[in-house]
Amino acid sequence: MKVLVVNAGSSSIKYQVVDMTNESVLAQGLVDRVGIPGTTLEHKPEGKDKVLIKKDLPDHTAGMKLVLEVLVNPEYGVIKDMSEIGAVGHRVVHGGEDFAESVVIDDKVKKVIKDCFDIAPLHNPPNLMGIDACQELMPNVKHVAVFDTAFHQTMEPSNFLYALPYEVYEKYRVRRYGFHGTSHFYVSHRAAEMLGKPFDQCKIITLHLGNGASMAAIKDGKVMDTTMGFTPLEGLVMGTRSGDIDPAIVFFLMDKLALNTTEANNYFNKKAGMLGLSGVSNDLRDILEAAESGNERAKIALDVYYNRVKGYIGNYMAKLNGCDCIVFTAGVGENGIDIRENVCADLDYLGIKMDVEKNKVRGKEVDVATADSKVRIFIIPTNEELVIARDTYRLAQ
Ligand code: AMP
Repeated sequence: MKVLVVNAGSSSIKYQVVDMTNESVLAQGLVDRVGIPGTTLEHKPEGKDKVLIKKDLPDHTAGMKLVLEVLVNPEYGVIKDMSEIGAVGHRVVHGGEDFAESVVIDDKVKKVIKDCFDIAPLHNPPNLMGIDACQELMPNVKHVAVFDTAFHQTMEPSNFLYALPYEVYEKYRVRRYGFHGTSHFYVSHRAAEMLGKPFDQCKIITLHLGNGASMAAIKDGKVMDTTMGFTPLEGLVMGTRSGDIDPAIVFFLMDKLALNTTEANNYFNKKAGMLGLSGVSNDLRDILEAAESGNERAKIALDVYYNRVKGYIGNYMAKLNGCDCIVFTAGVGENGIDIRENVCADLDYLGIKMDVEKNKVRGKEVDVATADSKVRIFIIPTNEELVIARDTYRLAQ
């Protein structure tokens, strides 16, 4: 069976076609600027040249329609006709407390996705638009929702509750949910395989360090804690997001900078983090380069970044009572040699010792700990699409 994996954002649709007989990716692509003048579709069929199509598209249905046309194109398509697609897997950011695993989409599931609009206003509405568009165009196959929050649903109240009046949890569902769950799920399972231990007997700390970043503490096959919370703003310092701050700063700056709630939300999500702190960029490559050429703010920004990650490693080491391995993944985690080295520096008291020579690799699945390190240090390229394709395939059977 071939599975179509769809990740619909507010103005973009990412897709992959995966052949489940050998889990190979037949094609992947991105429709960008959906509903905005200047729409483009970039399609990359396996083993063939990239194709770029420029065509203004009014909405997600038109975007998906173009994707399907491209997939069956005799020249650069990867299937003969749509009947080859046996199921569609959709990335959905928020499943609230209703879903601890992936599900076949029906009206009830769509209602839950809609009920979560309130707590995931930027993500769930476009995710649902993608589902509606695909269901309209492919009504005869199963559609599966794979939630970013699902893997974290094993967290206990002691880790997911905020110290706020309990009614706001009951009434408004204010609690910690965690995100990037599909990535944490994939790399922690791979880590268990690399450790040669059953997943439900491992203690693992996963570091998904990308433009958005989060960590998770996983014990006995369950997420015990994670750094992102009610929204993806909590936790680590990110490209443009502040991560943890004193909440009183929000009221203080709303007052000083005369920000309304929308502007304040934008400020802490888009203007803060590494971009705000360094004044250079949200991209760690630019900040590393600036620091190298003597930019003091870039150096300080990097130190704040390392400190926050180290702090959470310590936090999770304490909660897990030690761990078998830490795992680096996502853009920064897979490629940032200096970043990994600095995060792991001076953690030998915790049993974390990096072999800095072995660490000089990018995007490879490898153990970069020294032979005598108590804790293994893995680099594992993430593959969220494969998790979505596998769950979709399993549920579509
Ligand atoms: P992601 O969100 O997982 O796609 O990660 C994107 C981020 O990875 C970019 O914003 C960069 O900051 C980061 N990145 C990519 N390559 C490197 C590298 N060689 N060193 C440090 N950071 C990198």
